[in-house]
Amino acid sequence: MSSTSRIQNVALPGTAPDTKWTVELEGGTVRQLSPYEDNAESSQPAIDGQGGLLAPSLCHPHIHLDKAYLLSHPRYSHLQIERGDFQEAMDLTGKAKSQFERADLLERGQRVIDESVTAGVTHMRAFVEVDAGVHTKCLDAGIELKQNAYNDKNCLIQLCAFAQLPLFSPAKDDSNGDVIRSLIRSAAQTGHIDAVGSTPYVEADGKRMKQNVEWMVDLSIEFGLHMDFHLDYNLDSNTEPMVWHVVQTLKDRKWRQRTSHRTVVLGHCTRLTLWDDAQWRELANDIAEADLPISFVGLPTSDLFMMRTGQQPEVRGTLNVPKLIDEYGLNACIGINNIGNAFTPQGSCDPLALACQGVGIYQTGTKRDTELLYECISTRAKAAIGVQQQRRDMDVNIQVGDKADLVLLRGCGAGQAQWRTRKSVSEAVYLYDHCQSRRTFLAGEISAAKE
Ligand SMILES: [Zn+2]
Repeated sequence: MSSTSRIQNVALPGTAPDTKWTVELEGGTVRQLSPYEDNAESSQPAIDGQGGLLAPSLCHPHIHLDKAYLLSHPRYSHLQIERGDFQEAMDLTGKAKSQFERADLLERGQRVIDESVTAGVTHMRAFVEVDAGVHTKCLDAGIELKQNAYNDKNCLIQLCAFAQLPLFSPAKDDSNGDVIRSLIRSAAQTGHIDAVGSTPYVEADGKRMKQNVEWMVDLSIEFGLHMDFHLDYNLDSNTEPMVWHVVQTLKDRKWRQRTSHRTVVLGHCTRLTLWDDAQWRELANDIAEADLPISFVGLPTSDLFMMRTGQQPEVRGTLNVPKLIDEYGLNACIGINNIGNAFTPQGSCDPLALACQGVGIYQTGTKRDTELLYECISTRAKAAIGVQQQRRDMDVNIQVGDKADLVLLRGCGAGQAQWRTRKSVSEAVYLYDHCQSRRTFLAGEISAAKE
């Protein structure tokens, strides 16, 4: 980690092609943008971008820190995927959780943070589970990882105390949810938690799913925390979408008035991919009328692995994130969810790889589309999880006064063909760079992986 006040010879989003810029940083923000002059003399230390793109940093809106890399960690090598379905993922992860120890939680979580920071991530919402099996093991490790990342000025981590298991239905060693509810409540009181989250769909029946939602909404109000639901994770048109109950409960409890600067994120929501236009418009109107800060997070790598589409080929089994933004005026973003476990064995900690895949997943290939995909892993993801930003618009242009949370895709050195350099957001999204030569800046300072 080192300090810098000037990044020079960079391409900036939203500027004329082939223009190069010098970006001055001060006090953690962007102080000045000026055309780059090759021979300008300055006593300030500078980073040379070699003509590459400098853009807003990346954000994981939804990532599970405690169950990452289970398939490759030697401690869990006996727990490998045989079928690849949701029930098996729950079973394998349940078995792994019974063996979690602080040391391996720290080791696996640190790998997520390291690989994310290398990719340009400065902010993330990390889920850590609490239940009768793991008690506070995942939470305690999450707090240590969060504090270390903060002290190292590597990455700002929001922790979400998360109930993957039911709050009101029977689970192992917790016959009616008393244990897990008490653990989530205690987690909310620690002062280290930013959000609380649950999975209403794991409850035994609809009544208890609704009870789960209501209990979490009340808890978030009581402790002034963000909310994060894994919601409507199915592709069954016979099930009642729980999203209506979330919106209604937030309205009934006057959540907007009783919390400040807090947001609600709804993840997965694959059931809603079966909706028609009218249903989406109804939901979008409902949310807008109540002025609820709800965002949707699509988790395509998980959804496409887990959700069997079967008889309806037009259903892609994952939220059409660009359409939610463009057609219904909702905020939405995309996240990797899991990495290296039975819920999502494949992928990487690089959100830009996800945006790159998004071109095909959502079949959105124009220049504007690629900018929107970048927003979904950067500005929109930060807004979803309630990271305070200087301006409300979501575009990826860099302006004076913006926080200096940035990622540089450094260009080619002298002697190499300059056209290979990624100079625009669309080139960065279309042409995956395998994280080569990226530099991450958090509040104007270079952040780097611990190892
Ligand atoms: Zn998740």
